[in-house]
Amino acid sequence: MSEDIPFMFVGDALALDLINTVKIVRGQIIDTLQTPDDLAQWWSLAHEHHPQIEVVSGDIKPFDENTLATIKSVRDHLHDLFLSVIEGQQPDADDLPALNWALGSGHPTLVWQEGGRIEYSSTEPAAKILLPAALSALRLLTQADLSRLHKCQSNQCILLFYDTTKSGTRHWCSTACMDRDRSRRRYSASKQG
Ligand SMILES: [Zn+2]
Repeated sequence: MSEDIPFMFVGDALALDLINTVKIVRGQIIDTLQTPDDLAQWWSLAHEHHPQIEVVSGDIKPFDENTLATIKSVRDHLHDLFLSVIEGQQPDADDLPALNWALGSGHPTLVWQEGGRIEYSSTEPAAKILLPAALSALRLLTQADLSRLHKCQSNQCILLFYDTTKSGTRHWCSTACMDRDRSRRRYSASKQG
């Protein structure tokens, strides 16, 4: 991934931050997950932003092209699923099954670890991300306040977020996006006036 296109962690939920790896940069839709290395880099940052997510341990191989393709396919279905929910529309026929598949293929086998901890275990590289991402999506869809799920208000932005503010009045993914959007509106208003 090019250095000037950083990953965004503005979703306030792991599933939304995964969806937000596709974003608009200077009017172009950009997929920031281009290589298995991008995925590994995103995942280590995702961990820092979501320290409470489920850890999948076990003899897991490094991410490869297959892992990347699997994660991206689930991500794209999650995007469409959440957008449908935000818009109050019935999801496409294959979007919810994709989440169900991700929940299942996360292989949430519980194992006893030294030191008395019980952890999720898998040998499937994709499971490391799929399981916590799918559980995050499940929690949002079944336990969260769906009226707080939003797409950024800027029409130059496609990022999704869960509004955790007390007032519940967050409209943009970030203050930078808000500032750009407001100045664009001022500019077009001044042109019309
Ligand atoms: Zn935005």
